[in-house]
Amino acid sequence: MMKAVLDHIGIAVSDLPASLAFFRDTLGLHLESSEEIASQKVRAHFLSTGQSSLELLEATAADSPIAKYLEKRGPGIHHLALRVENIAAALAHLKARGVRLIDERARPGAEGALVAFIHPSAAHGVLVELKQPAPAVPLFRVVGRHALGDLELLSLSDGFLRLDGGAMFGTVPRTMWGKRLPPDDVNRIPLGMRPLIVRGEKTLLIDAGCGDKMDARTAAIYGLDRSYHLDHSLAEAGLTVDDIDIVLASHLHFDHVGGFTALAKDGTLVPRFPKARYVAHRGEWEDATHPHERNRASYLPENFVPLQDAGVLTLVDEGAEIMPGVKFRWSGGHTPNHQVVMIESGGKTAVFTADMYPTTVHIPDPWIMGYDLHPMDTLAFKRAFAKEAVAKEYLLFFEHEPSLAAGYLREQDGKRFVERVI
Ligand SMILES: [Zn+2]
Ligand SMILES: [Zn+2]
Repeated sequence: MMKAVLDHIGIAVSDLPASLAFFRDTLGLHLESSEEIASQKVRAHFLSTGQSSLELLEATAADSPIAKYLEKRGPGIHHLALRVENIAAALAHLKARGVRLIDERARPGAEGALVAFIHPSAAHGVLVELKQPAPAVPLFRVVGRHALGDLELLSLSDGFLRLDGGAMFGTVPRTMWGKRLPPDDVNRIPLGMRPLIVRGEKTLLIDAGCGDKMDARTAAIYGLDRSYHLDHSLAEAGLTVDDIDIVLASHLHFDHVGGFTALAKDGTLVPRFPKARYVAHRGEWEDATHPHERNRASYLPENFVPLQDAGVLTLVDEGAEIMPGVKFRWSGGHTPNHQVVMIESGGKTAVFTADMYPTTVHIPDPWIMGYDLHPMDTLAFKRAFAKEAVAKEYLLFFEHEPSLAAGYLREQDGKRFVERVI
């Protein structure tokens, strides 16, 4: 299924001042922007009509496609454009149904968007443009490396998902978070999924993103974008699933441990990392295997029960040393036994903050997710932790931050900010 909404209607014009006199001055539409698209030899003028717009297309050269169109058919409606979330997926969907395309691959359009055209013969005489708008938040997914004493840290990506902005910021109104993380037209904000590898005595992976078991309907609800995912990231880091010795869970929500298991060819669920021991917190395991109405949607048994069945699961308590230099530390709040991971070597400390600081926008103490089961525990932990992180110069890893992977928490004139490292 592809979901598309009307983005704009393209109109070929031969006399721009006369067209503007009608659409802008007589109809009263607001002229929002004008842009020259050199590759198409056109200048596009966008007039806002609420959710969508009119695009007046003016040829800038005699051999422009718009000039040719005007010659043949005169001024008038040239095309309509549908906005889609994922243009590559939309093109694959159309191709699979035998729809004739002008562009088999998306190409750059105006305002940083990606565009592709469907042939009019396949669309009942209408030239249809597909458009994936430029992301309002820049998405970062490059593998980041950082040396911490004798340890090597590798920040990976399992792609991006979208969650309701209101749910992500609890009691904080949209007027405050909306500027930092602009929501889409259904109020969702983009979020990263950033597992972390710690290489030392062993190779340890902390969390693994949501994995590839999500059905298409759920993936659409969460706006899942795994066009680049954990396997790509591992390959970019020069690793494979066989290199991972230990897999650690900050907690057992699907967006953190979905990638712990995989569907085998025979239809059974198996550990995704065949040589790894999987480690989870004992209390978190109890909660995940005995869910209630409030947390049931986040704890999906297929992500963790197969690990116990395969005999590769170890349950530990807070403070447990997972491998030299790596320890669980209780934060609670988000779930009663949510853990952050303290990583120490050579007198330096890094912290995998998981859902305690999901993004850098969650740095202010009371900016707490609506999902948290015990928000007052989150608040108490954040208050103390922020002071500690600033004073001791912890390198913080932000698992759901869309635009960066890690940085130092700094404080200046009573204001906290993150200094980017990765
Ligand atoms: Zn969570
Ligand atoms: Zn999460």
